Amino acid sequence: MDVSRRDFLKGLTGGIFATTLIESTLGSQSMAETAGAIKIKDALANSSICPFCGVGCGLIAHTVDGRLVNVEGDPQHPINQGALCSKGQAVYEVVTSPRRLKKVLYRAPGGDHWEEKDLNWAIRTLAQRIKSSRDGSFINKSEDGTTVNRTEAIASIGAAVLNNEECYLISKLARSLGLIYLEHQARL
Ligand code: SF4
Repeated sequence: MDVSRRDFLKGLTGGIFATTLIESTLGSQSMAETAGAIKIKDALANSSICPFCGVGCGLIAHTVDGRLVNVEGDPQHPINQGALCSKGQAVYEVVTSPRRLKKVLYRAPGGDHWEEKDLNWAIRTLAQRIKSSRDGSFINKSEDGTTVNRTEAIASIGAAVLNNEECYLISKLARSLGLIYLEHQARL
């Protein structure tokens, strides 16, 4: 759309007029009351990183008494400078959505329904299955006789939600098990 200088000045004048009209309608006290009702007024601002993709945009998460009340882009962050894509703008829902999963759901191999499981059961079962897959597929030597001590039956895929230290520990654990297929979302 082409906007002439005259149109721009007319629009500017209209904007100033609208703001003046709102102020005179609400009154200065009402404006102050409105500002007082802003939900982040007394909130604690915590900086964080969007967990959804490898771009790693900076977030500010506002909490009141430990309860999340708002999430927005961090204007000081060098990557996104306050901007967030539609997924990042919806990150608040990861915590607050009534559809958020709070229990382990398990579907058995060949099963057709999900069962609720205890977190300790899930951790123990995962550990047992990783161990049995690893032991059952472990290769000591390659075809030409070179010692390789590896498994090709398990892969590790990291997500952007992992920080440097977590990635370091996960890669250490994976390599100690003999995994050679290690990937991370930020590299894909
Ligand atoms: S806001 Fe969007 S682009 Fe930025 S890290 Fe999140 S998902 Fe990726």
